[in-house]
Amino acid sequence: MITTTIHFRDKQLIPIWDKIQRGKRLSLEDGVTLFHSNDVISIGKMAHAVQQAKSGDAVYYVVNQKIEPTNICVLSCKFCDFAVKQHSPDAYEMTIEEILSKLNSDVHEVHITGGLHPDWPWEYYVRMVREIKKAFPQIDVKAFTAVEIDFFHKKFKMPIEEVLRQLYDAGLRTMPGGGAEVFSERVRKLLFNQKIGAKTWFEVHKTAHKLGIPSNSTLLYGHIETYEERVIHMLKLREAQDETGGFLSFIPLAFQPGDTGIKPKNEFTSAIEDLKTIAISRLMLDNFPHIKAYWVMLTEEVASVALNFGADDMDGTVGGEKIAHDAGAISPMALAKEKLIKIINDAGKIPVERDVYYNALNVHTTNVIGKIPYLNSVPFYTYFEQRQFKMLPIAPRRMGILSQKGQIDAGLFSLRDYLKQEDTLDMMDYCIASRDQVKSVILFSKEGWQGLNGKRIGIIDDTATSVYLLQVLLEKKYDIKAEFVRMHAGVNDYSQFNAVLLIGDEALKANKTGLNGFDLAYDLAKEWYEWQKMPFVFAVWAHKKSLPPDRKQELTLLIQQALERGEMELDTIGAVHGASIHLTAEETSDFLRGFNYRLGEREREAIQVFKKLIEEVEVSL
Ligand code: SF4
Repeated sequence: MITTTIHFRDKQLIPIWDKIQRGKRLSLEDGVTLFHSNDVISIGKMAHAVQQAKSGDAVYYVVNQKIEPTNICVLSCKFCDFAVKQHSPDAYEMTIEEILSKLNSDVHEVHITGGLHPDWPWEYYVRMVREIKKAFPQIDVKAFTAVEIDFFHKKFKMPIEEVLRQLYDAGLRTMPGGGAEVFSERVRKLLFNQKIGAKTWFEVHKTAHKLGIPSNSTLLYGHIETYEERVIHMLKLREAQDETGGFLSFIPLAFQPGDTGIKPKNEFTSAIEDLKTIAISRLMLDNFPHIKAYWVMLTEEVASVALNFGADDMDGTVGGEKIAHDAGAISPMALAKEKLIKIINDAGKIPVERDVYYNALNVHTTNVIGKIPYLNSVPFYTYFEQRQFKMLPIAPRRMGILSQKGQIDAGLFSLRDYLKQEDTLDMMDYCIASRDQVKSVILFSKEGWQGLNGKRIGIIDDTATSVYLLQVLLEKKYDIKAEFVRMHAGVNDYSQFNAVLLIGDEALKANKTGLNGFDLAYDLAKEWYEWQKMPFVFAVWAHKKSLPPDRKQELTLLIQQALERGEMELDTIGAVHGASIHLTAEETSDFLRGFNYRLGEREREAIQVFKKLIEEVEVSL
């Protein structure tokens, strides 16, 4: 629920803000109104409030390296200052050894895009991905735009799905968003008529999502496109995201005129235009988890302001970038990790190092409260007054990992992680415990329990406690064993598993609509209740033992106040969040009433029973 108060200078924005606060979607007309408005500060405040509700104080960055293996390209897009023809003196081609020499053990993401080479064989691309993964297993490969995938499909006469499948098998994990430019046939015909249009771009991305390859999306703005075309571009992406849920981020890219001849060299976009476009993206794309301020094109200064205009990702250190710089980008060629951290800290945010899936790897600040970003925790967080604390939305398992590194001061911890860290954490009197069923920890299965013996179960990466609950149920209640395979968060190809364990909002959504191919849905809290006749405690509030006494007291008070108010307004606080996962207000309210938020005797007893049981089983993932 968004409660920020904004004093609008442009009164036309008031109904738009009203819609946002009620969880209603913005229309094409709303988007165009926003672009025409001069009330930039109010637009920024709206976007910032929406971003805070989604990702709290977190701003992500990744230690990444760009590889552009060749600048030789069979196409000649008008706005491209990077590509050359094969016999140009500026042409270059990288060997796999040269590519590997640009990587090192600190890098977490390699971003590969380049020209469409006329002669390279298919095996070269597959080998490129495979060799990177072999030499640097910690690196996630984000590679090839939809334009390149379509080029491979046509040149090597393979279906798009097969191209992607072979790259996935070699180690490709996500795709960049480039090649979309702007989804307008008018602009395409004028500026890049040889390049793919929206239809093919979406076909490639939707196919990738189906195979469990999430992707990113971009908008190239500031050339000849209209405001209306920008908004239509966003709406098309929003619609596709409703369908697949596979987009990780949206990246507005400011056009760099360079020597393209499309605009005079110094007619680059203004900072106001950049900030407005980022903010409006955040407002229009309500189903996109992240909006990126790509500092390479924006400059560091504008990117840092954008962190208060709806952006929650700075991209990364970006070693090796050439495409934007060839077109005249004036930013430095790479930023040191320390510099990125400083920019984010200076903006009053939490610098969060991430991987390609946006899993938090490290947090570089203090006073961090971990926030489980699921509907069941809204009674704690809606009215939580942060004071000096910073809020980091984070999946349960990741919170446990960061807590072990000492990077989380307090939060709603997965029970399993709390039990693992009892030596360093103190449990508080608040929890998330089921009364009987929860509807948000579900095993979707093709078989009954006994049929799962010896079968493969996909386990969503986010879970820390539920996977132990599942193991306990399999071994102790049903006397069977199954093989667990960890799946990354987000889109996955579930068809390879006999059952999949989903938690949180993903499970709630799938429980409502059904999960294609899985006829059975087992609510694990209900399974536990029918077996043990006691509630199940999924998460408990805990803080570091080393937290100063006054801070502990303050935290207890803040939780208590937030929960009291949250419980009083239980019918309304979850409505917007519930609507975002297609639950009615009634369903949301019913769902929230299925939990106990205070640790009573029954809950404490249930924790001890579970603790004993998990000591007797082993989870191997
Ligand atoms: S934009 Fe891409 S496809 Fe077009 S010329 Fe440049 S490198 Fe080639």
